[in-house]
Amino acid sequence: EEIDKVKPEYYIRSFEFENKLMPSTWIIIRIDGCHFHRFSELHEFEKPNDERALNLMNSCAMAVLEEFQDMVFSYGVSDEYSFVLRKNSYLYQRRASEIVSSVVSFFTSMYVMRWKDFFQEKVLKYPPSFDGRAVCYPSSEILRDYLSWRQVDCHINNQYNSCFWKLVTSGKNKREAQHEMKGAQLQKKLEELGIEYDKILAMFRHGSSIFWDKEDSIVEHHQNGNLSDSHMKKIMLENCDIIGPKFWLEHSSILDEKQ
Ligand code: ATP
Ligand code: ATP
Ligand code: MG
Ligand code: MG
Ligand code: MG
Ligand code: MG
Repeated sequence: EEIDKVKPEYYIRSFEFENKLMPSTWIIIRIDGCHFHRFSELHEFEKPNDERALNLMNSCAMAVLEEFQDMVFSYGVSDEYSFVLRKNSYLYQRRASEIVSSVVSFFTSMYVMRWKDFFQEKVLKYPPSFDGRAVCYPSSEILRDYLSWRQVDCHINNQYNSCFWKLVTSGKNKREAQHEMKGAQLQKKLEELGIEYDKILAMFRHGSSIFWDKEDSIVEHHQNGNLSDSHMKKIMLENCDIIGPKFWLEHSSILDEKQ
């Protein structure tokens, strides 16, 4: 059949491209604030880490996990958050653009709505935006490598920023501070500047992990003698190491492929 003879609906639809994410793979949606270097300066974020801004990000990420039931884990630092969709999720038939756009717009709306809860009288000067992307990871080992990569990034950036802002607050201008940090060994620099890195807030050092924690199943004894088994799920936020095996052994249900 010639293309102009088929139903217009099919003809028009034929221009849409296939963007389905590979089946049976973990889907990561990573969102990142657009031009937050500028946004954070304009809104006078405390440097290097503004606690209110991070708490706002965390609050929005929690809302995402509550809204999108297939999200099993998320990890956030600075102006970014990574959301993990379970392997067998069929959200939007796994169409990438629908999944990414709905997560990004939901997160952004939350950020604007909840701004005042964290920044009180400080007005939001312009509408912030976030970009987003989806990536599939075929195994939980590779997914963990991805998350470790983000946490290593958090760690290195935070060490660098701690030194940089220490130099700035002790009188150097930004250019001088940048010059002094060039090629510096971070561990040595921290000692040199007298920064007790371990005393810095865990949220700044480790970023934030949000996940559903399966509580032990509560067996209810009803008066009629029946037993009912209800799995209560609770949302959890931890600022801990997710590179080593400990966290994943203690929360083995998160990456349980059968869920
Ligand atoms: P792009 O649009 O390419 O992402 P960007 O300016 O957002 O550019 P990023 O690499 O994403 O650049 O870095 C985010 C920047 O936002 C950080 O460098 C930091 O200056 C600032 N920022 C984000 N969150 C905080 C926070 N909680 N406290 C202080 N500064 C923050
Ligand atoms: P989905 O999430 O799949 O898009 P939906 O509920 O948004 O579901 P749509 O097919 O997009 O469904 O239709 C949007 C619906 O929103 C319409 O059916 C209508 O009920 C409502 N709606 C949108 N705009 C208006 C409007 N200006 N006035 C009244 N109703 C509206
Ligand atoms: Mg970006
Ligand atoms: Mg950014
Ligand atoms: Mg960023
Ligand atoms: Mg729709």
